[in-house]
Amino acid sequence: MSGGERYEFVVDAMLGDLAKWLRILGRSTFYDPHAGDEELLGVARAHGAVLVTRDRELCLRAGAEGVVCVYLGGAGLGEALAELGRRFGLRLEVDLSRTRCALCNGALRRARREEVAGRVPEGVIERYEAFLVCERCGHVYWPGSHLRRMREFLRGLEQRF
Ligand SMILES: [Zn+2]
Repeated sequence: MSGGERYEFVVDAMLGDLAKWLRILGRSTFYDPHAGDEELLGVARAHGAVLVTRDRELCLRAGAEGVVCVYLGGAGLGEALAELGRRFGLRLEVDLSRTRCALCNGALRRARREEVAGRVPEGVIERYEAFLVCERCGHVYWPGSHLRRMREFLRGLEQRF
C-alpha cells in the first residue's frame, strides 16, 4: 500500500488473472500472492474494498466482519468478470485513459517514443508513437495486438454471459 492509493477490489492469491484484468479495466486492485487471510481482510476493510475470493470460509468471515465479499466458487475468468460487471457496474471495456498497470496496479501515464526507446523491441518503436508507462514499476505498454485480443475477449464475454 503506498501513495494514498485506494483499492476498490481485493483479490485472493488464486485469482491473479482476475487481478490483472480488473487493473486493465481501470479498477484499483490489491493482489499479493503471499498475503494471508488477515491481510486480505485488513486491506479490504481499510479501503472499503470488495473482497473477491474462491475461499468460502474467508468470504463468510468477511461478511461477518462487515466486508463486502464475492465468493466465486469455481467460476472461470470470463464468468467472474461478468459477475463483477453485473454487481458492481464494472464496464467490460478497455479504456486506455483509465487502465492501470496489470503488474503492480500503478497509474499509467502517456509517454512518447523517444522516452521509451531501448525499453521496448525495435519493431514496436517504429510502429507506434504513443506509449503508456507505469509510474510505479516503469513497465511500458503500447496498443499492440494484445490490446485487440483483449477487446475481442471482452466482446465475447458480453455475448456469452
Ligand atoms: Zn507497474
